[in-house]
Amino acid sequence: MASVKAELLLHVQRLKHYLRKRMHNGEPATVFQKIRPAQPGSSTAATAAASGSTAAKLYSEFEQLAQTVQSCTQCKLAQTRKHVVFGEGDIQAKLVFVGEAPGVDEDSEGRIFVGAAGKLLTRIIESIGLAREEVYICNVLKCRPPGNRNPAPDEITACQNYLIKQLEFLQPKLICVLGTFAAQTLLGSQEPIGRLRGKTYTYQNIPVIPTFHPAALLYHPQNKKLVWEDMKRVAKALGITISARK
Ligand code: SF4
Repeated sequence: MASVKAELLLHVQRLKHYLRKRMHNGEPATVFQKIRPAQPGSSTAATAAASGSTAAKLYSEFEQLAQTVQSCTQCKLAQTRKHVVFGEGDIQAKLVFVGEAPGVDEDSEGRIFVGAAGKLLTRIIESIGLAREEVYICNVLKCRPPGNRNPAPDEITACQNYLIKQLEFLQPKLICVLGTFAAQTLLGSQEPIGRLRGKTYTYQNIPVIPTFHPAALLYHPQNKKLVWEDMKRVAKALGITISARK
């Protein structure tokens, strides 16, 4: 229960950070009127109430989603997980990474991509000049398959709606899918990642670039050069200039 509370507090903090960032960037104050209401009777009160209500409703829905996922029992993984791993990062991020499922370290800590594969993902993100805190990272499955086995089709079916809702909220400029299961889930394909990577696809009008999962790279480091090619594609799509190979 303590971890659920901590997770919810973390999401509240991120939402506050998001709101502060938007205000700092000069976003219309009306966006925040639900949080800081306009004076009744002021000329902007009616508009503020409408747009503020929409924004607050959206954030509230994201919070509700996180809360719902924390107590989800829609598939058998609920019986063996230690923690639900919802996702983390900048909720205003231009770039969202979608991985497969929590591993043993993520399951223990309740945080996403914290093991060896997570460290490698951080380096991959930094290779195009971004910090890990500047992107958002989530998985197709929010609970760990025992023994790090592959996600089962019924588990993906049960869980994918959470990912769909996360992406609806985040509305990134680009999605980078990591590994076969994430790519197949978002692209509706049966092809393995080796065949899917190297091209840009779309999901709900958002460009999608598939690449190898960092965990797979730990066993097949020869594919790092292909991931670098994919990350250059990501950087180009985001308008990031990479000055030198990291
Ligand atoms: S993997 Fe997804 S659907 Fe299954 S119990 Fe966890 S949150 Fe629910």
